[in-house]
Amino acid sequence: MTLPRTYRTVGLTLRKTPVGEADLVSAIYTREHGKLELLARGARRLTSRLMGHFEPLTLLRLSVARGRSLDIVAEAEVVTAFPEVKSDYAVTARGLYVAELVDAFSALSAPNPELFDLAVQTLEAVGDHPTAELLLRYFDLQLLAGSGFLPELYQCVECGEELEPERHRFAVGAGGTLCPDCGPPDVIVRSLSLPALKVLRLLHRTEAVGRLPDLNIPAAIQREVHGVLTATLQYWMDRQVRTQAFLDAAKLP
Ligand SMILES: [Zn+2]
Repeated sequence: MTLPRTYRTVGLTLRKTPVGEADLVSAIYTREHGKLELLARGARRLTSRLMGHFEPLTLLRLSVARGRSLDIVAEAEVVTAFPEVKSDYAVTARGLYVAELVDAFSALSAPNPELFDLAVQTLEAVGDHPTAELLLRYFDLQLLAGSGFLPELYQCVECGEELEPERHRFAVGAGGTLCPDCGPPDVIVRSLSLPALKVLRLLHRTEAVGRLPDLNIPAAIQREVHGVLTATLQYWMDRQVRTQAFLDAAKLP
């Protein structure tokens, strides 16, 4: 059986690279096919029908022709360009953070529909609640969970004992929470407050994402949660989160 020569899909643009005089290659995360790198011929020409369609953070309905090395965009229609996310530099930085992490945690042509849904849901929620940091932390944790990298949050990763309140620590390199008696060699063990651990568990278990922006979590606890999640993301990415610098530079009130 031969594959059809064209296929239709919906995808979120993550990044674009100029190629040749007027073409570009766009990394697009689709629900059915996972991440694709597609060639958009002539898309950088001002007169092109495709001009502007491949800016990062655009949800596109696509018709794609199979190519020898790269598949080629035949038609593209904008479903939404997330105007609320693009309304402000600081909010755009949050959107680009989502795009960077989806890109970093996905391989080409490895479908993960939950990751697609998580990314789109997060962008919509960030557009509605641009100052709610916790939405990005929810994204961080669910991204890790959906990619098979969820840190342990309930037991000691070494001995398997149930954690007792106030008697726990955290080690990214060991895979999550530790009891006070276990200290695996060669990993950096950090303290983690009970409220921060509870927030991490909430982000893991909650299905009421819409309620996250209303939670009143002290800034110090949010910073702690952010620190643990960033360290975990960077451990698995084996590099820094690049867009974090934009986020830090473009603080929302
Ligand atoms: Zn232990």
